[in-house]
Amino acid sequence: MTESSKPSMSSVRGVAVVTGGESGIGRATVLRLAQAGYAVYSGDLRLNPSNDAVFTGPNIHRHACDVRKEADVRSLILTASAAGRLDVLVNNAGIGMVKPITEVTEEEWDRCLDTNLKAAFFGCKHAIPLMQVNPQGGAIVNVASNAGLLPRAHDPVYSISKHALVGLTKSLALCHSVDRIRINAVCPGPVGDTGMINADLAVASDPKAMAEQFIAASPLARAFRRMITPDEVAQAIEYLVSDAALLVTGTMIAIDGGKSLGVPPRVTQ
Ligand code: NAD
Repeated sequence: MTESSKPSMSSVRGVAVVTGGESGIGRATVLRLAQAGYAVYSGDLRLNPSNDAVFTGPNIHRHACDVRKEADVRSLILTASAAGRLDVLVNNAGIGMVKPITEVTEEEWDRCLDTNLKAAFFGCKHAIPLMQVNPQGGAIVNVASNAGLLPRAHDPVYSISKHALVGLTKSLALCHSVDRIRINAVCPGPVGDTGMINADLAVASDPKAMAEQFIAASPLARAFRRMITPDEVAQAIEYLVSDAALLVTGTMIAIDGGKSLGVPPRVTQ
């Protein structure tokens, strides 16, 4: 943890924690929630200097945090709540894993499941007691994936982690509705301008053809000839944490252009 200035609670709408806030969907979410008036505490493995010029203003607080470690997640959440209370947690940090099961090592399994599932579990564990004493309750959003709704053949470990995250979302939503804590998920993809997609494109022999494949797998992405944007996912997260969704819990919003509905129509040229 690197930063100590605390916002005055009268000057902010609430306190939000976002994991993986330095890139892609997390970055867009930090900016949206800060713009909506939250004091936002972002935790990421590394602070990206190129964000220094974007993450300006008194409401954005950036911390180094490895979400695979319960102690780091706890420390991030306690630092945020020291500002007065905790209203929002967005469990966004995640990594891909494209490998058949026969090639997956124990270390790779642990890295994927620890980042995509265990981190959200411990985030909820430490956020829920703080939200239970908040008269307004609280809102948690887990960033799952279309792969959490419909498994994919090329990345079974990732699909398993995101299916489990959907299960965690429903289970904890049921447990903590009595506390006025709403727990929902967004299931995006393919989202352009993200580290995840860019990493795949960087190693592709034909990045343009690969980008077209991503788009072709989602009926609406194909119809609009583009991927989903990080900010389109952030807007759904902003809705889920807002009072407009005060009675919404345990639900998954697919922001995937219909990708998780099934096999898309054939391409006719
Ligand atoms: P991204 O790589 O741009 O962002 C992920 C962020 O998480 C990065 O800043 C990274 O440093 C951080 N992170 C990774 N491991 C971490 C750790 N151990 N501790 C702390 N931070 C860590 O990719 P993105 O697409 O914005 O990913 C955000 C979420 O969206 C992920 O959970 C991902 O699974 C999900 N998602 C992305 C897509 C897509 O098409 N990009 C589709 C479906 C779901």
